[in-house]
Amino acid sequence: MSNAQVIGHYINGQVQDSGSERFSNVFNPATGEVQARVGLASQKTVDEAVASALKAFPAWSEQSSLRRSRVLFKFKELLDQHHDELAEIISREHGKVFSDAKGEVTRGIEIVEYACGAPNLLKTDFSDNIGGGIDNWNLRQPLGVCAGITPFNFPVMVPLWMIPLALATGNCFILKPSERDPSASLLMARLLTQAGLPDGVFNVVQGDKSAVDGLLQHPDIEAISFVGSTPIAEYIHQQATQRGKRVQALGGAKNHMIVMPDADLDQAADALIGAAYGSAGERCMAISIAVVVGDVGDKLIDKLLPRIDQLKVGNGMQKDSEMGPLVTAEHKAKVEGFIDQGVAQGAKLIVDGRGFKVPGAEGGFFVGATLFDNVTTEMSIYQQEIFGPVLGIVRVADFASAVALINAHEFGNGVSCFTSDGGIARAFARTIKVGMVGINVPIPVPMAWHSFGGWKRSLFGDHHAYGEEGIRFYSRYKSVMQRWPDSIAKGPEFSMPTAK
Ligand code: NAD
Repeated sequence: MSNAQVIGHYINGQVQDSGSERFSNVFNPATGEVQARVGLASQKTVDEAVASALKAFPAWSEQSSLRRSRVLFKFKELLDQHHDELAEIISREHGKVFSDAKGEVTRGIEIVEYACGAPNLLKTDFSDNIGGGIDNWNLRQPLGVCAGITPFNFPVMVPLWMIPLALATGNCFILKPSERDPSASLLMARLLTQAGLPDGVFNVVQGDKSAVDGLLQHPDIEAISFVGSTPIAEYIHQQATQRGKRVQALGGAKNHMIVMPDADLDQAADALIGAAYGSAGERCMAISIAVVVGDVGDKLIDKLLPRIDQLKVGNGMQKDSEMGPLVTAEHKAKVEGFIDQGVAQGAKLIVDGRGFKVPGAEGGFFVGATLFDNVTTEMSIYQQEIFGPVLGIVRVADFASAVALINAHEFGNGVSCFTSDGGIARAFARTIKVGMVGINVPIPVPMAWHSFGGWKRSLFGDHHAYGEEGIRFYSRYKSVMQRWPDSIAKGPEFSMPTAK
């Protein structure tokens, strides 16, 4: 496929097509065809991106925060104008259905909207006259050059968890997107330039482990934001902290949904279908385990089966598709391997998605919706993140057992409980050891002005992503204490004072 389009880097306000000696194939998951090749950055390319960001940093960090926000306002307008185009790019490279991709873009735009309020968000505390004519206040200052390393499953939203806040707080930023769906990063880079962002403030290096290691080892990178699987998150956290860098590394997940006997079972079944099979289960907030309490199991399965039967699986660009393919053939094989293990370890396979074919798209990386009953905690399908359309049912006797089971799991990203009992809901929210909690809400992804992050081995580092935690992550706290014996007269000024 040597004639395939080559996807390059974005450095100093320009797309850089050349310079890569290594390439990786980018597939159309719905057909299985190679649609492009992405250049994998060498250390030289990483160094060029960092040099460009370092050069841009003094002027950008000294701009007033209002001026920086104006660029983001313009960027938001451009994202609105290119909403469909971005969603099409996502669907074509990731495979998720177009409506879901549009939702992803909307969620990303919301973070840009939040970051537009940076002048207010960067406001700090002031203590007047703490003694002897001395005042004490705080500053939140930019860190310098920051880098973000992002996963394949949200090629627009997850980069936008990072970019707007990093830029609004006065940093320069280098994005290393997933090599599996790299094109959206270049459109966002072009839109930032079009919005008036000075060259070098935002750069994209495409690549794999080599590019990531180049960023981790670079002495001029101050902070790393990572989102991806847990083993890599742990590696990034260890490597970055060892070099004195600030790091937030969000990892994998295994999200449970408790279904209590008093839950509305139609609502619970609808929620499970969307949360388990939406985006083919390739969401870090997907529900992959239903913990059914008491005698709910059989009744819930009766509700799930017709819904699974009606699920429309197909090319994400077809209007009526509800679930698309997995991202690569390799990932499809991994997910089908997990289904094999579930069967071998004794779970009851009620719906088998292996070998699923979409007529006319036989080469696509599809796995059908899969449902297991009688899953137990020793099984690999319970313990590990599958990241595919596989839902397991675990049966427990009571609410306390459900909470104990979830709290014992190594991951703690998202969780949900369906119930009509306020006391149970309150106890659940207070005692569950998970970072993002839904009560009758299946995928409780926090809004832009709250913050996103899990507990336990779903997050390494102190800060959650975006919201106030994001502002704190991308700025350094400074306390200033000042005394002035005399004020300095500057002479009169007659024009209306404005931010300069
Ligand atoms: P991944 O860990 O394979 O890749 C993430 C990033 O790390 C990519 O940019 C990739 O190029 C890079 N990378 C891959 N291998 C590397 C290595 N050996 N050394 C250094 N860098 C490496 O993850 P993925 O498959 O792209 O995404 C799916 C995973 O991301 C799932 O585990 C999912 O739960 C997780 N995720 C978590 C969140 C969250 O907020 N917690 C959000 C989205 C996705």
